Amino acid sequence: MNILVINAGSSSLKYQLIDMDAEKVLAKGLVERIGIEGANLQHRPAGKEEVRIETPMKDHVDGMKLVLDALVDKNHGVIASMDEIGAVGHRVVHGGESFKESVLIDDAVMAAIEENVPLAPLHNPANIMGIKACLSVMPKTPMVAVFDTAFHQTMPAKAYLYGLPIDLYRRLKVRRYGFHGTSHMYVSKKAAELLGKPVESLKIVTCHLGNGSSVSAVDGGRSVDTSMGLTPLEGLMMGTRCGDMDPAIVKYLMDRDHLSIEDVDKILNKKSGLLGVSDLSSDMRDITSAAASGNEDAANALEMFCYRIKKYIGAYAAAMGGLDVIVLTAGIGENVAIVREKVLSGLEFLGVKMDKVKNESRPKDVLISTDDSKVKVLVIATDEEMTIARDTQRLVKG
Ligand code: AMP
Repeated sequence: MNILVINAGSSSLKYQLIDMDAEKVLAKGLVERIGIEGANLQHRPAGKEEVRIETPMKDHVDGMKLVLDALVDKNHGVIASMDEIGAVGHRVVHGGESFKESVLIDDAVMAAIEENVPLAPLHNPANIMGIKACLSVMPKTPMVAVFDTAFHQTMPAKAYLYGLPIDLYRRLKVRRYGFHGTSHMYVSKKAAELLGKPVESLKIVTCHLGNGSSVSAVDGGRSVDTSMGLTPLEGLMMGTRCGDMDPAIVKYLMDRDHLSIEDVDKILNKKSGLLGVSDLSSDMRDITSAAASGNEDAANALEMFCYRIKKYIGAYAAAMGGLDVIVLTAGIGENVAIVREKVLSGLEFLGVKMDKVKNESRPKDVLISTDDSKVKVLVIATDEEMTIARDTQRLVKG
């Protein structure tokens, strides 16, 4: 069965068509600037030349039509007709408390995703547009929603409640939800597979380190705590997000600099993190090279980024009462040896021994800990699209 995976943004559509029998990507691509001047499709069929098509698109339906045309095109297509798409899996950011796992989309599911819009006002409306566009161009094809939050719905109340009046949870659903769930789930299962042990027997800390970053405590295959909260702002310091800070800073900034709440929100989400501290860039490549050439602010940004990850690893080892595996994944976790080294050094007291040579050898889906390290450390290439496709296939096959 071929599964189309869709990740819809407010003016974009990312897609992958995956042949699930071989678990092979047939084509992937991106539609950008939907509804804006310069709308275009970048289509990458496996084993063929990439194509770029610039054409006006008024909405996501136009974008989806273009994607399907590209997939069945006689030159750069990869399937003969749309009938070869067995199902569509949609990434949906916020499932709130309504969704503990992926689901087949029907009217009730659409209504529940709409109900969760206040929890993710930027993301869920875009995801809904993507689903509706697909339903309009392929009405007979089964659709599945896979939520970023679902994997973390196993957290106990002591991990997901905030120290706020309980009424705010009961009435407004203010609680920790966590994100990057498909990635934390994929890499924790993959770690168990690579180690040849049942995931149920392992205490794993998964570190998803990308532009957005989060850490999870995965005990016996279940997420028991995670660093992102009601929104993806909490937890680690990220590319442009501040992560954990004293919430009183918000009022202080509003008073001192006469800022609106929107101004402060923009500072915390868009102007902080690596970008804010370095005053240079949100991209880890720029930070590491500036730090290496003596830029003090970039060096501080790098140290802070790593120190905070290390603190979460310690906290989650304590939360689980032990630690068997650390997984590092996503753009930074998979590619930046110096970050891995700084995160892991000093954790010897927990039983972590990093192998410097392995760490610097562009590891992928392998151990970077020494043979005698009590805690196994793995670098795993995350694959959120494959996780979405597998869940979609499982639900469609019943
Ligand atoms: P992601 O959000 O997972 O795509 O990760 C983005 C982050 O990963 C950025 O900070 C990039 O600088 C970093 N990154 C991605 N690829 C590389 C690479 N090959 N070398 C160094 N950093 C990388």
